[in-house]
Amino acid sequence: MPVFSYKEIIETIKKYDTIIVHRHMNPDPDALGSQGGLVELLKSSFPEKKISKAGGPVGDLDFLTTMDEIKDEDYKQALVIVTDTANTPRISDERYQLGSKLIKIDHHPNDDNYGDIQLVNIHASSCSEIIADLYLENQEDLILSKEAARLLYAGIVGDTGRFLYPSTTPHTMNIVAKLMEYGFIPSEINNQLNSISPKVAKLTGYILQNLTISKVGVAKVLLTQDILRQFELSDTETASIVAIPGTIEGVLTWGIFVEQPEGHYRCRLRSKGPIINEVAKRHHGGGHPLASGANAKDIKDIDQIVKELTELAEEWSNK
Ligand code: AMP
Repeated sequence: MPVFSYKEIIETIKKYDTIIVHRHMNPDPDALGSQGGLVELLKSSFPEKKISKAGGPVGDLDFLTTMDEIKDEDYKQALVIVTDTANTPRISDERYQLGSKLIKIDHHPNDDNYGDIQLVNIHASSCSEIIADLYLENQEDLILSKEAARLLYAGIVGDTGRFLYPSTTPHTMNIVAKLMEYGFIPSEINNQLNSISPKVAKLTGYILQNLTISKVGVAKVLLTQDILRQFELSDTETASIVAIPGTIEGVLTWGIFVEQPEGHYRCRLRSKGPIINEVAKRHHGGGHPLASGANAKDIKDIDQIVKELTELAEEWSNK
């Protein structure tokens, strides 16, 4: 059973001199916002502790935060906290296992309930919202800095699609209002999160030209290695185009299928209605009800995923 206790987390944090915070691979703004926001929150609250951020390179999101260099021996006696990561294979830097206690803080469905302590709230818009809640519920123990507020704000903006998705609640907006009082410049982050490179802009044109949309509103586009090479882009750089099909009238659910160098396909699945994470789970993936990821070994597998999305879209339309 997941343990949902802020107090237990604060008491555990107080006991450790070294705390290392991890997040998921291929980080998005919420992964970095929750990880970096938590680290900044803990640094200002417990200046005597050694607190660091672990994980691989953050790519062009380095305007948010960057990682620390951590030695294996630093994990000895350390408390490890993992944010925004549903399952252990997706944790960036597998040394998370070397610590002496593990806490999971997340907002994805808790299918892999790893960790000694868990703070999982699937109703939160983002993991950054949970970290902000942790602060707001424990203000007698914690101090939130301007930098922590900036990072948590960025995470919430990122995972709500700029407050567009149904996961955005009045509580989300209350938290955002409180964070904005800390003096960072929200429009600066909004612009940073919104800007795309000229290469990605060209890929956007390709997606719009090549997207197929079925009668029931299932859209799909295939990005082969050849296409990625042509646009001089890597898979991770395609993150900002995933929402585009959803802006087209009539599109209900969609998949962007990105060929990997090894030949299989990363399937980025999204929906504006039908719940799609069960489809993702059946195809070696998972995720949120309206935003999931899966894997397909070939075009036949992709066709099967599209078929399953079509069934969901038909059910939805007949409701
Ligand atoms: P993405 O399309 O990669 O941005 O993924 C959307 C969401 O799906 C992420 O927030 C993850 O929660 C989830 N997800 C993606 N890939 C996987 C996977 N292989 N296994 C489980 N969940 C995944």
